[in-house]
Amino acid sequence: MNDFLNTSIEFIKGVGPKRAELLQTELGIFTLWDMVNHFPFRHEDRTTILPISSVQNTEHSIQLRGKIERITKEGTGRGKRLKAYLNDGTGKLELVWFKGIDWMEKKLNTTDQFLIHGKPQAFKGSFNIVHPEVVVWDDASNHTQMRIKPIYSLTEMLKKRGLDNKILSQVTYSIVNDSRFSVQEFLPASILKENGLINLSNAYKHIHSPKSGDDIDHAIHRIKFNELFNLQYKILSRKTEVKMKVKGVVLAQIGTYFNSFYTNHLAFDLTNAQKRVLKEIRGDVKRGIQMNRLVQGDVGSGKTIVAWFAMLMAIDNGFQACLMAPTEILAQQHYESLLEYGEMLNLNITLLTGSTKSKAKKEVLEQLSSGKLNAIIGTHALIEDPVKFQNLGMCIIDEQHRFGVAQRAKLWTQYNPAPHVLVMTATPIPRTLAMTVYGDLDVSAIDEMPPGRLPVRTVHKYKSQFTEVALFAEQQVKAGKQVYIVYPLIHESDKLDYQDLMSAYDNIIRYFPLPEYQISLVHGKLKAADKEAEMKRFKEGKTQIMMATTVIEVGVNVPNANVMIIENSERFGLSQLHQLRGRVGRSAAQAYCIMLSGSKLSNTAKQRIRAMESTTDGFEIAALDMKLRGPGEIDGTKQSGIMDLNLSDIVKDEELLYITRKVVSDLLENDPNLELSGHRGLKEHFQKIMRGKVWRRIS
Ligand code: ADP
Ligand code: MG
Repeated sequence: MNDFLNTSIEFIKGVGPKRAELLQTELGIFTLWDMVNHFPFRHEDRTTILPISSVQNTEHSIQLRGKIERITKEGTGRGKRLKAYLNDGTGKLELVWFKGIDWMEKKLNTTDQFLIHGKPQAFKGSFNIVHPEVVVWDDASNHTQMRIKPIYSLTEMLKKRGLDNKILSQVTYSIVNDSRFSVQEFLPASILKENGLINLSNAYKHIHSPKSGDDIDHAIHRIKFNELFNLQYKILSRKTEVKMKVKGVVLAQIGTYFNSFYTNHLAFDLTNAQKRVLKEIRGDVKRGIQMNRLVQGDVGSGKTIVAWFAMLMAIDNGFQACLMAPTEILAQQHYESLLEYGEMLNLNITLLTGSTKSKAKKEVLEQLSSGKLNAIIGTHALIEDPVKFQNLGMCIIDEQHRFGVAQRAKLWTQYNPAPHVLVMTATPIPRTLAMTVYGDLDVSAIDEMPPGRLPVRTVHKYKSQFTEVALFAEQQVKAGKQVYIVYPLIHESDKLDYQDLMSAYDNIIRYFPLPEYQISLVHGKLKAADKEAEMKRFKEGKTQIMMATTVIEVGVNVPNANVMIIENSERFGLSQLHQLRGRVGRSAAQAYCIMLSGSKLSNTAKQRIRAMESTTDGFEIAALDMKLRGPGEIDGTKQSGIMDLNLSDIVKDEELLYITRKVVSDLLENDPNLELSGHRGLKEHFQKIMRGKVWRRIS
């Protein structure tokens, strides 16, 4: 960086020590370089002057020029105001001030031409402007007024201390128009050309001091390109590095366990999507490089069996496997299915959770380290200290959003060569996030449902229609089916949520009286063992109705349940609604999801409900969810700390995200260490952005 840009902001005209200190504490601006990296969030076009005759209703400020006539003061006390009329020959427009009256009165006169800036509003059949900006035209005619003005974000403190947009824009203007101003270009000319990018100096110049709308567009495009390009570099270079440095267990062969299970014990044909994902996993694990793969598949797409085959790949090669689930209920459920599979093959499989008794736990740990156990299913108990495998080859992590980044790494970092990591998620990740937050994982998609599944019929009903809904549920129960009724957590406090659930229960048993009907109740206040017992009763068909707070949100598999009633559905997020719906529709029977709500619905609640009614496609839902909530709210985004974006937005700039990803991956493929002479600028640039930034990843 050149000396000029390294200069302290204090020394630029109009700043000085006091303002410099403010800029430092409020905006983290120390140098001129920092200053020009504080980008405006919009621009105001002050290059055009409108004739008064063509003033209309508008959202924006306008600019007028004319002579002032008839300056009058009216009213008294609080109602006191200054009025003046601007006349430009095409018409007249009233200007009004309620504050700073004396000062303004002195400034105005009826001889000069004035340049007026402000937002017109309709007033008594014509227009007026309240508190316009006013400058004498002789001053205004110099370039600082008549230009496209950048608008910067300011803090309250800055405004209070008089450091306003006018001063900031003067400061940036004088920096970027200084003859010493230049920014070192880091992109090779070929990339600039292929992507129609302007050079960096011009981008900075034009975003702070544009001469036209085109200037602004080009500058913003270039700066967004930089941001997304840097982001992709951080992600992809890390991925390349892991591939080059982290040695993985070699799972060379597909052996007898895999083959025997596939040919003799599999009760159904795998879908093509399941087969494809298994092939991708197979391709990863034989290379001696650690696999870091994310398998996303909508609820019910059949991820468990894929995980099982991946575990068999390890076991066939003499390694152990583990599967970690986020809750006891889920771990238990996986354990039950995998135990059954394991018994068919005479494998030793066990369960380890927080509620495993210490004596049993000791035994499990011994069997793990001696290698007697082939596989273990568990909760985060698996990553607690004393757990030591003899030779771990495959880690499966189910429903990854519940695990933190560091937690997951604990599973495997102690082993060398590293075991493979397969993360399974039912939350479809929009492509944009797959390329960013999860961008260093390879992604597989099980994008096909097992055959014979009918889409869940989804409807919205008002609470007042509950009787109708209950009658429908009763019909289904009479036909041998089971029903979920889910309540949102409203109160942060288990106790109050419990009370809500209990009063709802009182209502439900009026429709489904004992002993004819049995109801399971699951909520946050229950102990894990009791929850499990309730889940079990439901699973075994001993109860027909499962009333629950969100505990069943993730993963439970009761194929006979075909009705999902969601109470207060307006309180759930879209992804959550979709997850809940995924609990039903797990068999060939038609399933139903009924979303109940109060009569008052916010706009976004309406959009969520409409989306649920119109599609069962998890990817569509996830993309819409991200639009409604903004990417920052999506799980994993905040923790990852990589979304250091200023002007760009991974949803709105999706196309540019693809482009930059492609540019970076081509670069890394051809010249992974950026050693070509034409890439020297790039290398320095990346060293700079990677320096001092702790950037570690997920699993
Ligand atoms: P999820 O992806 O939500 O974890 P599961 O693995 O629990 O889904 O599978 C849902 C149900 O579908 C299970 O009962 C499972 O046995 C069944 N299943 C999985 N794959 C197939 C398939 N290819 N054909 C038929 N049923 C399948
Ligand atoms: Mg599952």
